[in-house]
Amino acid sequence: MIEVPFLDLKKSYAAISEDADVAMKRIASSAAFIGGAEVISFEEEFANYCDAAYCAGVDNGTSALRLILKALGISRGDEVVVPANTFAASAEAVCHVGATPVFVDVCSDMTLDPNLLEEVVTPNTKCIIAVHLYGQPADMDAINAIAKSKGICVIEDAAQAHGARYKGRRVGTLGTAAAFSFYPGKNLGAFGDGGAVTSNDPDLIHRVKMLREHGQSRKYFHELVGETARLDALQAAILRIKLRTLDENNERRNSVAQQYCAAFNGFEGIQMPIVKEHNNCVWHLFVAACDHRDKFIDYLSGNSISCGLHYPIPLVNQPAFQEYESASKEFPNTVAHANRLVSLPIFPEMEHDQIEHVMQCVTRYFS
Ligand SMILES: *Cc1c(COP(=O)(O)O)cnc(C)c1O
Repeated sequence: MIEVPFLDLKKSYAAISEDADVAMKRIASSAAFIGGAEVISFEEEFANYCDAAYCAGVDNGTSALRLILKALGISRGDEVVVPANTFAASAEAVCHVGATPVFVDVCSDMTLDPNLLEEVVTPNTKCIIAVHLYGQPADMDAINAIAKSKGICVIEDAAQAHGARYKGRRVGTLGTAAAFSFYPGKNLGAFGDGGAVTSNDPDLIHRVKMLREHGQSRKYFHELVGETARLDALQAAILRIKLRTLDENNERRNSVAQQYCAAFNGFEGIQMPIVKEHNNCVWHLFVAACDHRDKFIDYLSGNSISCGLHYPIPLVNQPAFQEYESASKEFPNTVAHANRLVSLPIFPEMEHDQIEHVMQCVTRYFS
């Protein structure tokens, strides 16, 4: 029986093991573990990749979001709009600076619905977090237009969308600043945790770089109350190697997605992810939807195919965020989706017979 894991990080290491082993040895023997040339080079290369003027490496994607919010001066009493369907980190970062996440529903492509912004933005709203969920950019023109009219800023949560394009432009500079995660399972993943902030605003990046290192503008001069939130040299070195093949790997993800869509499009029982025409999705996840989803997952599991759920409980129904939820609000798309979604395996190292096996099993189930 062909086995299809949900992702295969060992194969991802195997593809770069020679370069990675050399780099790890180089860092270890240089003993330059914090900051230094590797981090600076990665920041330059990643900024370049995103067509951004600047990049600041940080310790994870949640820190990237939190440090942007801090750098923008967002704090207690401020409201930040967050989509109801996203990973918890998008909202956690808001809570950690003392601000209030205000949830809004998503549209059919599962990214924030810009049409709902008008009704949730109040005089206290300082910012909108636009999440490029599953690898697909949110509708930035519509979101930016409302943000501009209200005089508030937009943060891109690009933790799932390294390299994605919106109307031809890379994510990373489509708002005030963008947050990336390099958690191992992301499209660009480190050998541990990592993250980055990109922006065209030099002052904002300067503040993020101070905040990640105890608010220092120079050694032992603490201009801001900062923290320890740096990107390790070791992770930067690995990310530099992996960045070289990011486009190629995103293209492989796209090829799997196109094969799934072509094979399953006609089936009544399963709904394919919706990708807007102006978007180049990088398919961090392939999230389909079907009724009686658990039965379908059991069937796939019986055929050695692993699936995921992204995300089974909307943030508005999570215990952690209850105090932020106003009872009157409804999130019909997010809630309906949560009960039906199923993430099929998609990763760059997926082999032809693994893709075929998924397509045959899904086809057998729905036809
Ligand atoms: C992974 C992720 C984050 C957080 O990144 P970490 O590196 O795990 O802290 C934030 N937002 C989204 C949408 C994510 O998928």
